[in-house]
Amino acid sequence: MIFTNDDYTVRPLKVSIGCYDFMRKYAAPHRFIEYCRRCPAYGARWGCPPHDHDWIERLSHYGGVLLLGTKITPRDKALPADAAHDLMRPVTDDLNRRLLDLERERGGVALGFAGKCTYCGETPCTRPQGLPCRHPHLVRPSLEGVGFDVELICRYLLRVPLRWSSDGLLPPYLVVVGAWFHHELCR
Ligand code: SF4
Repeated sequence: MIFTNDDYTVRPLKVSIGCYDFMRKYAAPHRFIEYCRRCPAYGARWGCPPHDHDWIERLSHYGGVLLLGTKITPRDKALPADAAHDLMRPVTDDLNRRLLDLERERGGVALGFAGKCTYCGETPCTRPQGLPCRHPHLVRPSLEGVGFDVELICRYLLRVPLRWSSDGLLPPYLVVVGAWFHHELCR
């Protein structure tokens, strides 16, 4: 399905938090790795676990976290649940671009909203062959992919509780969220 801006409304979401607090309240890598292991993307794309290093340990050295997200509300209230990927794609691409711009211009590290990696188009990912990623400058793991509890983050930091599909239909809105870990201390 192809969606245009006329098919949905967007509300930007943004919040800053100190890295120590963020880790303490929202990191649960041992719980989330179990969910990831059940996903077909596990070990099949470079943005997904297992990773070659401990992301939580690496990120814990930063001073602050800027969370950026978007709430997407489709105008059509009866879209099928499988429309989610196409609906989120342009918003996700824009969010990932902004996070990578922050990383490039100001240092730190961006975590994107991974979903289905599309940088290679229809060409299969290199990971199952053990070959390097074709676009390592673009691919980052997601918050959930390194072990953060995105449901809690959306509920308590972004103040937009996640909603789930039911009866084969999309929920009333979707949320995409990513983060930029930086060296500036924030409370
Ligand atoms: S950019 Fe290509 S090679 Fe890299 S993770 Fe995505 S699909 Fe795989």
